[in-house]
Amino acid sequence: MLQVTQVPLLSDNYSYIIVDSATQEAAIIDPALDEPLIDLIEQNNWRLKYILNTHHHHDHVGGNLAIKKTFDCQIIASRYDRQRIPGIDQSVNHHDKIRLGESQLHVIATPGHTLGHIVYYCAESAALFCGDTLFSMGCGRLFEGSAEQMWESLQLLKQLPEQTRIYCAHEYTLNNGHFAKTVEPNNTALLTRINEVEALTAQGLPTIPCTLKQELATNPFLRTEHRTLQQTVGTTGHSEIETFATIRNLKDQF
Ligand code: ZN
Ligand code: FE
Repeated sequence: MLQVTQVPLLSDNYSYIIVDSATQEAAIIDPALDEPLIDLIEQNNWRLKYILNTHHHHDHVGGNLAIKKTFDCQIIASRYDRQRIPGIDQSVNHHDKIRLGESQLHVIATPGHTLGHIVYYCAESAALFCGDTLFSMGCGRLFEGSAEQMWESLQLLKQLPEQTRIYCAHEYTLNNGHFAKTVEPNNTALLTRINEVEALTAQGLPTIPCTLKQELATNPFLRTEHRTLQQTVGTTGHSEIETFATIRNLKDQF
């Protein structure tokens, strides 16, 4: 089993330290910075084996080199990103498995936000570390990939078990919720979730992790098959990919 420590860094990033409970072997997912993470690893006497990056953006790899220098760990990232991940040691592809102590992580390729974007899924712990692909009530911007690629990537994540906890890399939930309401004003699950998120945010508490079940009920980017949503954004009779692209455009201008 994995024990997950969520570390808020920069203005709205989350880095994660995952520790295999049987062996105390640890990995950091997307170190935004070095020092706070180094301190946590030292204080807890965890044995840092890996840094796992979801993609090459600076707020996800900023801590790579200093952390590697301190603990002599291995840096793992997408094969596509092997030229642009600082300190990369090992590159992985879709369907590869990474062993951390007695735990196992599956690599799922999710191009869209960037072309090399990957996510890490632990079935046994029902945990998904999805970087900037899926956010609570939102998804990543399309910097490199097409709407079709991102939509396909999200379909892969939709197939995971509903109880999967979503550990995304940013606290964008409140703003995402306010946007989601403009495209699904009558979605009661969404309105309930927005209230919950407003209360958490007002207390300075994280809204992450959420669950896939919550996201399937509230995240418009995962709900492109719903007729009422299609009607609201004017894509009735069009493909789900066109519906997705339309919602993504609206969000970019929100
Ligand atoms: Zn990014
Ligand atoms: Fe990011």
